[in-house]
Amino acid sequence: MKFLALLLCAAPLALAAVISEKVVTYDGYRVVRIATGGRVLFEKQLKSLDAVQLDPDTLAISPGDFPKFENMKLEYEILDKDLGASIVAEGGFSPGSASKRSVSSLDELKPGTFPSLAWFDEYHTFAEHQQWLVDIQDGFRENSELIEIGKSYEGRPINGIHLWGKGGKDSKPAVLWHSTAHAREWITTMVVEYLIFGLITGYNSKNDQVRSILDKYDFFIIPVVNPDGFVYSKTTNRLWRKNRQPHPTHSCIGIDINRNWGHKWEVITPASWSSSNPCDEVFRGVAPDMAPEVLAVTKHAKSLAANKGIKLYIDWHSFSQKILLAYGYTCDKQVPGYERSMSLAKGVAAAIEGAHQKKFTPGSSCRNLYQFSGGSTDWMQDVVSAEISWCIELRPTGWAGFLLPASQIRASGEEQWEGMMYLLSNM
Ligand SMILES: [Zn+2]
Repeated sequence: MKFLALLLCAAPLALAAVISEKVVTYDGYRVVRIATGGRVLFEKQLKSLDAVQLDPDTLAISPGDFPKFENMKLEYEILDKDLGASIVAEGGFSPGSASKRSVSSLDELKPGTFPSLAWFDEYHTFAEHQQWLVDIQDGFRENSELIEIGKSYEGRPINGIHLWGKGGKDSKPAVLWHSTAHAREWITTMVVEYLIFGLITGYNSKNDQVRSILDKYDFFIIPVVNPDGFVYSKTTNRLWRKNRQPHPTHSCIGIDINRNWGHKWEVITPASWSSSNPCDEVFRGVAPDMAPEVLAVTKHAKSLAANKGIKLYIDWHSFSQKILLAYGYTCDKQVPGYERSMSLAKGVAAAIEGAHQKKFTPGSSCRNLYQFSGGSTDWMQDVVSAEISWCIELRPTGWAGFLLPASQIRASGEEQWEGMMYLLSNM
């Protein structure tokens, strides 16, 4: 996209890091959804615009380049007349807060008060999420530990929590949850934390269903897989998606963490939304597994698979309200156990709908979302043989897209809680 080109690509490499800190406000940017046919036909011209791609058919276009876009005479609808105003209304984007010191390890933090549901009334910074993990773990000391599975490109810890029930730690098959691999998908961290909160408070209050679930599985939950991108989305560019790793020869920054996993990474078809262009939102990296974040999560998953195996993997994303089975790389192949996994996904969708009447559509990634390779669920399915390997795309279905109002965090958590209680009790 050209706005990145202006910021980075034309700049000498030494300046790139400095210039890339320029805050992008998106004032006056319009969000448009383009009819697929036109999008494919005009791909090259669209890429030359000062714009950011939100999904294959949705772009946020700068006010300066909007006339150029209109001249293409494509069929489109406007989803948001002023993206900058929507970002301000959402809250949580704080330009300039980058200077605040980041945590380098959870050991540096002292536990405070056990979290309350009020946590889920607003979005939070990376440092606040780290403190939250320390606080909640302190209220479940006998049955949990904090884990650090690696470091991000910029050296931030990739942290999580490990929960277990009777029988002690590492004695049961693993349930593994990842969220915020894509930096701008803030709701995913909040929802996963809501699930952690529900599991811990449920176990502590002797809820029978929660106890039997935690007694059966070891949970490993990583709320922010992409800390550098997440911090950048908070301080500099609300719609940042990738990590913050420089390219070896090109000045565009970042690898799409959900395109860099080393299984079928090399498969790129004209229809797939994975790219070898470093400036694209879905840049897959110059080699598989080259993002340190991907290396950290794959190493961790391999260790779980080698121990008691992975019963369930979920990579939480937003948006579009879908429950996605592998595969993403091909539409021509079903995963082993497809019928059973689909039947569970339908049960989860019904449980979610029962909470707040939101419809979530189950199906394979390729057929139900779009084709893409180098994704986490394909890897978990085939490389470490996770019994169930899904991606869940959270609220909403249309625009506000990634800018889900904070007033919907609790309801999002509540409906996923219902979905997970169904899944974990029936799988
Ligand atoms: Zn995503």
